[in-house]
Amino acid sequence: MAKRSKRQQAILRRNIFLGSVSLVLVAAIVLIVWVVASGLGDNDGNSSEQSTNSTPSQSQTNSDTSSDTSSDTQSPEPLPSTPDPVQVGEFEADANFTKTILVNIKNPLPKNHDYKANMMVFPSEYKWYSQAEVYRKIDKDIWPYLKAMMDAARADGVDIGIISAWRDYGTQVTLYEAQIKKWLDKGYSQADAEKEAASRVAVPGTSEHHTGLAVDFNTTQQSFENTKAFKWLKENAENYGFIMRYEKEKMDITGGIIYEPWHWRFVGINIAKEMNDLGYCYEEYCQYKGIGDYVY
Ligand SMILES: [Zn+2]
Repeated sequence: MAKRSKRQQAILRRNIFLGSVSLVLVAAIVLIVWVVASGLGDNDGNSSEQSTNSTPSQSQTNSDTSSDTSSDTQSPEPLPSTPDPVQVGEFEADANFTKTILVNIKNPLPKNHDYKANMMVFPSEYKWYSQAEVYRKIDKDIWPYLKAMMDAARADGVDIGIISAWRDYGTQVTLYEAQIKKWLDKGYSQADAEKEAASRVAVPGTSEHHTGLAVDFNTTQQSFENTKAFKWLKENAENYGFIMRYEKEKMDITGGIIYEPWHWRFVGINIAKEMNDLGYCYEEYCQYKGIGDYVY
């Protein structure tokens, strides 16, 4: 009994020893695995942090533009992003808020487009001239930006007023046909008269005014570029998300529309600033960013 007990005790001691060694080995392995894993974890942590940094801004921008275009997710260059609200006049603006629809002679509005959707009547004190009440409408989402811009200009002593904003299809037809008649009366052929008209008044269905995102200020004379109002807009409009749409040098790209220093279009604060930095017109910018499924 004593012998067997001693042998059992010896076995027990050996088992305890082996068990301890195993525990130490397991602990050592766990430690090594943990060190290696945490070393890799640093890299993963960084890279996942980077992707979480870029993902929200990208998705935020995409959600902002999703109402206008469906293929922004294929954008080769992420749209610029500003995380915090921007104080624009009396309200906190979202610099990421965009209206990216591109409308030109090659990219007319679809046949089933609802021209009246999302429009509001803006206060008459922002208009110039009392007539043409039909033009006193604008996309309601951009009105706070436009109002803030005009208020700021007026506070700086700049006399500025809207002579034309939203237009429905029928109004554009009237304007376009009046232009054609003007050139026919000068002795132009029908084809030449239509060409001249189209460079001055967009063909119905292809005018940016249909979107309610564009406004004409003060006068449709090219001498507008010599006014204090134009100078002010050139310096400040981007801070409110507006761009001058039809540059002198970009006629071939914008669809043959003549230089229109009076015509300004809302795109969004970050986009307006980036476009001006790049020196791109809106067609070039959309192509560069992969915005929309447009024809160039
Ligand atoms: Zn215009």
